Amino acid sequence: MAHSPVILVVEDEPAQREVLAYNIAAEGFDVLTADSGDEALLIARETTPDLIILDWMLPNVSGIEVCRQLKSGTQTARIPVIMLSARSEEVDKIRGLETGADDYVTKPYSLAELLARTRSQLRRTRPSSVGETLEYEDIKLDTSAHRAFRGDAQINLGPTEFRLLTAFMERPGRVWSREQLLDRVWGRDIYVDSRTVDVHVGRLRKALRGGGEGDPIRTVRGAGYALG
Ligand code: CA
Repeated sequence: MAHSPVILVVEDEPAQREVLAYNIAAEGFDVLTADSGDEALLIARETTPDLIILDWMLPNVSGIEVCRQLKSGTQTARIPVIMLSARSEEVDKIRGLETGADDYVTKPYSLAELLARTRSQLRRTRPSSVGETLEYEDIKLDTSAHRAFRGDAQINLGPTEFRLLTAFMERPGRVWSREQLLDRVWGRDIYVDSRTVDVHVGRLRKALRGGGEGDPIRTVRGAGYALG
């Protein structure tokens, strides 16, 4: 199983929080919940979720303040935030966007619309999680059919190598540390030695070069690996 995107739902109303969490989980996402701004910030910093659905009206620390802090934190700045609000005035909308929120949904919202916007944010940040085809030079990855190609030739990859290649292809040029690859490809709760990463990167390289092509994966000394 590919590591599903993790979505943090921040809502202080228990009934609303549960409905949201239930429906997001039903879409195949992993869900974390927080009932206050403080808890949201704590969870976001600890786990770096793939997306945050953030209610505007929260006791103590407001959604706006949470968003502002998320967007100014080095670890959390890149997490897409969808703000939920009962207020529909344009001025509020603009304020919401000025805090760095990536999208904005007004309550009462349609669940279908919220989910569509969630997928649209993830398409931008984690394209493989919503079944997109990824391309990098002559390598093509069909994430919904679980097939990889180099040029016209299909590449046979084991499940771990497929997930590794997916991570690389979502962010060409990004240098991944072994720790980051472990989190992303094996999941946070599984204990795997970081040497295992080297073994699987080796297998992936071999598979990618099966037709005698060049090695697209770069070893960055002391740092990790990168595609291109
Ligand atoms: Ca609320």
